[in-house]
Amino acid sequence: MKTLRIAVDGYASTGKSTLAKRLASALGYLYIDTGAMYRMVALFAIRNSWASPDGINAVAINAALDQIHLGFARDAQGRNRAILNGEDVEDAIRSMDVSRVVSAVSSLVPVRRRLVAQQQAMGRSHSVVMDGRDIGTVVFPDAELKLFVTADADVRAQRRFAEMDAANPGSVSLEEVKANLLQRDKEDRERLDSPLLLADDAIVLDNSKVSPDELFDQAMQLVSKVS
Ligand code: C5P
Repeated sequence: MKTLRIAVDGYASTGKSTLAKRLASALGYLYIDTGAMYRMVALFAIRNSWASPDGINAVAINAALDQIHLGFARDAQGRNRAILNGEDVEDAIRSMDVSRVVSAVSSLVPVRRRLVAQQQAMGRSHSVVMDGRDIGTVVFPDAELKLFVTADADVRAQRRFAEMDAANPGSVSLEEVKANLLQRDKEDRERLDSPLLLADDAIVLDNSKVSPDELFDQAMQLVSKVS
C-alpha cells in the first residue's frame, strides 16, 4: 500500500490537532503532533532555567539536544501522551509557562534541524498525519496532501481558553490566552528559519464557522482524491 503524508499546518489553536487526530484515526495512519515536540524541548529548557519570558539561553539549549529524548505513547483511553526522557509530560507542556517560551525555543536552528529529522524519519515508514507550522513547506514539501487550517483569532482564543480552563480552572484569563496566541503567531511567522507560511499547493480550510464534523468531512473529501 502507498505511504501517504498528510500535512496539517496553520496558526495556533485553529483546531489543527483535533482535525489531524481524527483523520489519522479514521485512516489508520500515525498521528504526529510536532508542536508537542517543540513544547517538550521548551519544557526541558525551563526546567534547566534556560528559558523564561525574559529570554532563552540558546547556547545551553543547543548543547543539550543529545540529552533530550522525545516520544509519544497512548493512555488507556487511547489519547496521545507526550513523553520527555521517559516521563509523561502531556499536561505540563500545555501550560502557559511553556506557551510563553516555545516560539523562542523553536526559532533555534539546531532545535529545528533535530526535530525535523525525527519527523521525517517517522513519515518514511508509515502513512502519517502530521500537524505543525512547517510540515508542508519543510518537513514534507512533497506531501500528498497539504491542509492549512485558519480560524478567527477570537474563535481560536475562546477554544484554547476553554481547554486550559477545563484542565486548570482559573489559571488563565481569556485575554492572556488571546495575547499569547497572537504573539506566537507573530514569532512563528517572522522567524528566519522555516517560518509559518502557506505552501503554494496547500488547501486552506477555514474553521471559524464550521462544526468539527463539517471540517472533518471537507478534509476527508480531499483525502479521497489523493489516496
Ligand atoms: O501546535 P502548538 O501550538 O502546540 O505549537 C507550539 C509552538 O511550537 C508553536 O507556536 C511554534 O512556535 C512551534 N512549532 C514550530 N513548528 C512546528 C510545530 C510547532 O515551530 N512544526
